[in-house]
Amino acid sequence: MRESAPKKLDFQPAPRRVGLLGIYHETNTFIESATTLADFQNGYWLESGRIREEYQGANHEISGLIEVIDSAPDMELVPIFYAMATPGGLITKDCYEQLLDRMMQLVDEAGRLDACLVAPHGAGVAEAYPDMDGHWLSVLREKLGDEVPVIGTLDPHANVSQAMVDATNGLIAYATNPHVDQKQTGIAAARLLVGTLRGEISPVQLLAKPPVAISIEQQFTSNEPCLGLYALAQALKQRFGLVSVSVLLGFPYADVYEMGSGFIAIADRSHSPVAADQAQEAASMLSDFLWNQKQAFNGRKSGIQAVLAGFEQYPQPALLLDMGDNIGGGAPGNSTLILEQLETGGFSGFFICLHDPESVAQCREAEAGTVISLALGGKNGFQTSVEVRALSDGRFKEDAPRHGGFVHYDMGPTAVVITLNGNTVMLTTRRTPPYSLRQLTALGLDPNAFRGIVAKGVNAPIAAYSDVCPSIIQVDTPGVTQADMTLFAYQNRKVPLFPFEEHV
Ligand SMILES: [Zn+2]
Repeated sequence: MRESAPKKLDFQPAPRRVGLLGIYHETNTFIESATTLADFQNGYWLESGRIREEYQGANHEISGLIEVIDSAPDMELVPIFYAMATPGGLITKDCYEQLLDRMMQLVDEAGRLDACLVAPHGAGVAEAYPDMDGHWLSVLREKLGDEVPVIGTLDPHANVSQAMVDATNGLIAYATNPHVDQKQTGIAAARLLVGTLRGEISPVQLLAKPPVAISIEQQFTSNEPCLGLYALAQALKQRFGLVSVSVLLGFPYADVYEMGSGFIAIADRSHSPVAADQAQEAASMLSDFLWNQKQAFNGRKSGIQAVLAGFEQYPQPALLLDMGDNIGGGAPGNSTLILEQLETGGFSGFFICLHDPESVAQCREAEAGTVISLALGGKNGFQTSVEVRALSDGRFKEDAPRHGGFVHYDMGPTAVVITLNGNTVMLTTRRTPPYSLRQLTALGLDPNAFRGIVAKGVNAPIAAYSDVCPSIIQVDTPGVTQADMTLFAYQNRKVPLFPFEEHV
């Protein structure tokens, strides 16, 4: 009989098990079509190891969360569930309940969890659950109990609620729009969690919600008025020695009570006995600043005709942002309004991408080089002759840190056509937000060769297109993401709220 080896006597505590999960959606409640389970299945539906496969090493908040926990020898990451769909209409009750049930089933199967990292967007709305993120975070809190730290990230377009803050120990929003600091935000949130688990930090978070809804047009964080607001947030963080101060710009296209701006300040109770008061004071001071500057956050609103009338003054290629048809805000991405203005106005040398599966199918039946007549985009009666230039499977990869942190894009079968006027139109089978120049270059198009590029967004496309476009023009177009929020019929928003009401 062999003697067994002597047991090692040095005690190694079991690593702390950190769950990772999220349901992520930006919901535009003014869109008629609903967001369903198929939209999440065609988007991202990742369970356990698949989360790591998709995001490890990318430029996403989940990449940052993974990196920090992996590098902590006393922590073990337990990836559980992450579901995300392209921004769109109200999430059906059935869809949300199935997502939640699956996530909670996987939480049960994950075994003991010492903490959870969460990645909500913060502007999710489901039928019967207007504060979807507040709801799932509360269900998670209920399951884990009050002693298990729950810390995570938010998109600054979150319509943050008290329920989200009450259900978590710390939420940190990206500080850029376009969102190019998602990974850093994940790193900050995971470090806060590690410090909390090790007993080095005792976070307390406070929320302030000023009665101001910020126009989407004024949410570009590299320009005023955002620069001043973010600078104040940083200054207050320093002054009070806070862990984090987040600016929530809000998402105007959701008819929910929480719609509008917000500020979350996180302080460390182990650092100061008045930490909570300091966090409250910082959040309140930011609220006061925003209220006093509210007119500057209301937007300029330049129409397409005025923009085209002065087009030659802009250094080219100019980026024209089609605000009313903002795919990242849930819009269909098929409006031909700007294209029609270009065609009738005799403008050539522009690029535009439209979501139009029917026209792609027609192009695939024609040979490259043939001229066919297409009813382009949203089928509003705009019909024109085009020459089919290229066909592709619509897949491409982005490696740089762009808005959204996406790596693999799949536009579905895609066609490139050119109008007889000389404008280039890309037609996609799947709705694809314009966050990557690879969308053009992967199909052999040189962005520098155009006089103007039309992108279906407001701020997000700037992260990619500012590399080639010296001028950026936000165009006030109609649609479900039009710049002027006062044109929508809200029933559930807070009253009073600027710009709907001027005084409180
Ligand atoms: Zn966002």
